Amino acid sequence: MKDKRGKRKEKEYTTDSERETFLLAKKLARDFKGKEVILLTGDLGAGKTVFAKGIASGLGLKDTHQVCSPSFTVINIYQAKYSIYHIDLYRLEKNTEILDLGWEDYLGKGIIVVEWAEKIKFELDAIKITFVIGEGDQRKIKIRF
Ligand code: ADP
Ligand code: MG
Repeated sequence: MKDKRGKRKEKEYTTDSERETFLLAKKLARDFKGKEVILLTGDLGAGKTVFAKGIASGLGLKDTHQVCSPSFTVINIYQAKYSIYHIDLYRLEKNTEILDLGWEDYLGKGIIVVEWAEKIKFELDAIKITFVIGEGDQRKIKIRF
């Protein structure tokens, strides 16, 4: 999403609990049109999976317990208002492995949510979200549209 001058918008939030992060994501997802790519970047435990759960909930998924980091499976697919492709690049090291994930099968077919998105070395038109862990349960969450 760009503003009138064609510049990307950026918003920064601070959350103080898992619930707040979940609700922030849920609210964001309500405006999704069905083809968004969401790139999540941040350390282990920063809240990427919590955010993915919030997105799924915002898209009407009732059982958000099935939303977990697909660290071993690499990709989980949930069916909600749109198909949600939840990808975790944690275990992938090589750029070729990432390229081989079959992006063309998912892009434009639903919502794509990627954890450890900093490993992607190619350009994707996406909403980019970065998480920084603060004191205790505080998380700084920056959203670039
Ligand atoms: P990641 O997927 O980035 O590795 P997770 O979402 O799996 O991280 O885990 C985040 C952890 O941090 C959870 O245990 C959650 O309860 C905890 N937590 C504490 N405060 C927050 C917060 N403000 N937002 C999100 N998670 C938080
Ligand atoms: Mg995770």
